Amino acid sequence: MLLKNRVGIPSVPNQLRYIKLVKKIFNSKILTNNGPILNRFERELKRKLKVDNVILCANATVALQVALKALNSKNVLTTPFTYIATINAMRWIGLNVFFSDISRSSLNLDTEKIDLKLLNKIDTILPVNSFGNFSNFNYFEKIRKKRGCKIIYDSSHCFKIEKNKKSVLKFGDASIVSFHATKIFNTCEGGMIVFRKKKDYLIAKKIIQNSIVNGNIDKTVVGTNAKMSELHAAWGLSLLKKINKIINKRRSLFNAYKNEFLKKKLIIPLNNLSENNFGYMPIILKNEKKLKKINKELFKKNIICRRYFFPSLDKVIKSKNNVKLNISNNITKRILCLPIHENMKISEVKKISRIILKSLK
Ligand SMILES: *Cc1c(COP(=O)(O)O)cnc(C)c1O
Repeated sequence: MLLKNRVGIPSVPNQLRYIKLVKKIFNSKILTNNGPILNRFERELKRKLKVDNVILCANATVALQVALKALNSKNVLTTPFTYIATINAMRWIGLNVFFSDISRSSLNLDTEKIDLKLLNKIDTILPVNSFGNFSNFNYFEKIRKKRGCKIIYDSSHCFKIEKNKKSVLKFGDASIVSFHATKIFNTCEGGMIVFRKKKDYLIAKKIIQNSIVNGNIDKTVVGTNAKMSELHAAWGLSLLKKINKIINKRRSLFNAYKNEFLKKKLIIPLNNLSENNFGYMPIILKNEKKLKKINKELFKKNIICRRYFFPSLDKVIKSKNNVKLNISNNITKRILCLPIHENMKISEVKKISRIILKSLK
């Protein structure tokens, strides 16, 4: 059965536009390794997002690993309120993970709670801009400049998000975006890194192609294969043409939800409504019991929500610092993401909202 209303229904490009590019691949027989379509996709992304030093990858998990390796990270402070990929990326390359709690308003690292003594133990902070919410960029810029601590943003949710007309991907030493099928912009599987410095970009470029530069092995880096293929790039290039339309449609769906929920005590935890991309429609309920009830009622009507993010990741892995993460543990039990996607109708938003408001009573 086709589930019409579930979280994560992907946007797809215009079929003819995509097939035209696939025909080029059939003719060129260039499937990967810095092919012409990947290069075109990269140029278009740089122009559209107003960024430089871009590296396209097979997915965002490996992109995180490449960025962490390129910046030589060892001890990383991050948030427990994220998708497991953020933490797995670090664990897979043997890094030490430290946690600090989140703020209720941004759902991102609460910079007032960052233990100053901890800053002496770590060399990298990896904030997550969850649901496109802004982190405390000013604070992290200060830490980066004054302490030389590396800042890597997991901006998986931040495609095309700007702050004061500047891409949020330009903050920090590096930013990662996910192009996974469930994200607002996708290449089926894929991801990208934006580096601040050309020097770091050049190291990462070697890493993603198994240390090989112009046919020779560069012994100074330990590489992996993290490259994006021509087919994935073709998908991205053709979908990119639609991105403004996709965001506008999602904005109108978001506003419809917001209107329905206006009078009720439902929290919509987004801190930058004028600049969000509306990749997600999160709501915070009073408690977990209410969340489960609503989830069940919607499920009965074939409306599939997702618990992003659940559980708080300190419940999954042991960090190097033992710290209480009360807000993260509290929010993860109460937060639910509702369906929001390109092909939804306002009437469907109203229907979903009605079911939620009814079960809130
Ligand atoms: C989706 C996601 C990732 C992982 O992205 P993949 O492209 O699936 O590897 C990492 N972090 C966050 C916050 C995500 O939502």
